[in-house]
Amino acid sequence: MNVAFIINKERCTGCAACADACPKNCISMRADDEGFLYPHIDKASCVRCGKCEQICPVLRVEKKAVTDGAIPQSTPAAYAACNKDEAVRLASSSGGIFTLLAERTLALGGVVFGAAMREDQRSAAHIAAETPQELERLRGSKYMQSDTQGIYKQVKAALQAGRKVLFSGTPCQVEALRAYLGHEDANLLCVDFICHGVPSPKVWNKYVEFREGRAGAPVRRTFSRHKKYGWKTFALLFEFSNNNANVQIFGEDLYMQAFLRNACLRPSCHACSFKKLNRVSDITLADFWGIENIAPDMDDDKGTSLVLVHSEKGDNILREIAPSLRIKPVDTYEALKGNPSMLQSVPPHPRRAEFFANLDTLPFDELVHKFAREPISIKMLASAFLKKIGLFPVAAALYHRMKSFVKKP
Ligand SMILES: Cc1cc2nc3c(=O)[nH]c(=O)nc-3n(C[C@H](O)[C@H](O)[C@H](O)COP(=O)(O)OP(=O)(O)OC[C@H]3O[C@@H](n4cnc5c(N)ncnc54)[C@H](O)[C@@H]3O)c2cc1C
Repeated sequence: MNVAFIINKERCTGCAACADACPKNCISMRADDEGFLYPHIDKASCVRCGKCEQICPVLRVEKKAVTDGAIPQSTPAAYAACNKDEAVRLASSSGGIFTLLAERTLALGGVVFGAAMREDQRSAAHIAAETPQELERLRGSKYMQSDTQGIYKQVKAALQAGRKVLFSGTPCQVEALRAYLGHEDANLLCVDFICHGVPSPKVWNKYVEFREGRAGAPVRRTFSRHKKYGWKTFALLFEFSNNNANVQIFGEDLYMQAFLRNACLRPSCHACSFKKLNRVSDITLADFWGIENIAPDMDDDKGTSLVLVHSEKGDNILREIAPSLRIKPVDTYEALKGNPSMLQSVPPHPRRAEFFANLDTLPFDELVHKFAREPISIKMLASAFLKKIGLFPVAAALYHRMKSFVKKP
């Protein structure tokens, strides 16, 4: 067994396209101690055909950079958008745009691929949805890496059957699908999102166990973007089989603290190869953080999406669903100021290694309090120093003036 055969571990995204592509079925995905899936190759069956290396999205991006050099970037059109159906918007992470794209696909007799929580709520996996009931399972963000084993084969089969397909996933999953298929298909619409990074499914699983222990009952449903306190102050919902439910604001939720402080992301997310302006997806969706400054008329704190369009197909389909939207064009660079994860990876929490080393032994609350505290940044230390010597107001004014000169590529 050898993981390094395809790519070194820190860079592997766990997309599982290599496992789907292997003609000898000799690649299986196995979880490591942190709970992330990695490919394992059965060397005895491997015929060294190189297919896995050919379709690895990380290796492809690297190779392309070498062969093509620096490609001039084009600016994707950007929009602020909200689904007019308020119930759908409230059940979605941002503006409910994914649901409209998915409903259009189903109405055309197509199939939608996206991430759903598994029945026991302990992990997420990509599934195919063909009915409105199945589509409901795809709605909303699942804050852990979704298992995509076998999904690329299913997408290929649906396209070969001549069906319309919507594939939605992280930027690395969409790149993986494009690499796996190897050619453009008029029936395929790819949607990715601006991705902070994906947390470990094992960490989520430990959190579910912890919450069940506290509640004294098994969990029945979870939802990571509840809008009881608003879209900007989103909250995590846990419903238990004893009919108790609990909604906790993200800033107070232990799991969200570990996630947003980067204590439990996949190693490859800290040097993501797919954070770029021009994507292989047709459309990129995101939360429109900062909408209150850019287009306040589009902000009612119930969820506004940032929609970035990368292709003519994406543009045409957005026009098709426009009657069901409130939509407004915005400046792409202004819009991205509130969402740096489009272009930059986040650094790991300084105590990430200790967090994982203690995951199996410490109770979840102790683990987070000990190893996922707000990291003390150079910025925080510098502000404390400047405040002490009385120069903070001058430095802050200078900093904000410099920030207003945002470089456009
Ligand atoms: C792990 C993660 C990190 C994110 N980071 C950011 C960020 O930094 N900035 C930002 O603006 N937005 C981020 N988002 C995206 C954002 O929250 C919404 O998904 C996006 O705005 C679309 O919202 P919607 O209301 O249109 O549709 P929704 O119905 O909320 O979107 C659901 C879609 O997201 C997909 N999805 C959900 N969970 C996963 C998963 N674990 N893996 C793959 N696909 C998944 C589903 O398949 C479905 O297609 C993140 C989402 C996830 C899952």
